[in-house]
Amino acid sequence: MISESLEDAMNEQMKNEFYSAYLYLSMAAYFDDQDLDGFFNWFREQAREEQFHAMKFYHFLNERGGRVELRTIEKPQKEFKSVEDVFETSLDHEKKVTSMINDLMDMAKEEGDHASINFLNWFVDEQVEEEDQFESVLAKVKRIGENGQGLLMLDKDLGQRQFNEAEEVASESEDQ
Ligand code: MG
Repeated sequence: MISESLEDAMNEQMKNEFYSAYLYLSMAAYFDDQDLDGFFNWFREQAREEQFHAMKFYHFLNERGGRVELRTIEKPQKEFKSVEDVFETSLDHEKKVTSMINDLMDMAKEEGDHASINFLNWFVDEQVEEEDQFESVLAKVKRIGENGQGLLMLDKDLGQRQFNEAEEVASESEDQ
């Protein structure tokens, strides 16, 4: 059974993951407004992935005899200065999420809660991928600069992204 303090912290992190989905949906809407369909797709898929992250906490809390508590999600930022600003903002956000996951891991270790440590290890790895992914697109956006043609090519490329929940779940069971 999970401790009350970890239950509370995981409920908070579940909310943070849902907030991430909200933030990326807001960014998707910003791109939709500019007719950048590929960027729109990329952020909408990222939002789906964040919902998947949130649901991992939801299921884990249930499995461990904790009680899921759905907390108030704050309103995300609506306006952005530029494409680059969106990626700077999302990379900063992911860095914050990484530090939240690290704090959770510290708590689980202090409590000697091995099941939680195991569960959170997946998120530690995931955050390395998330930061890398945002850094990589940000670097491309910076290289493109004011080049409209380059932006359209990247837009086309980002339009290919598809979050596949079944694949994610399959890779989880391979890890164990
Ligand atoms: Mg996440």
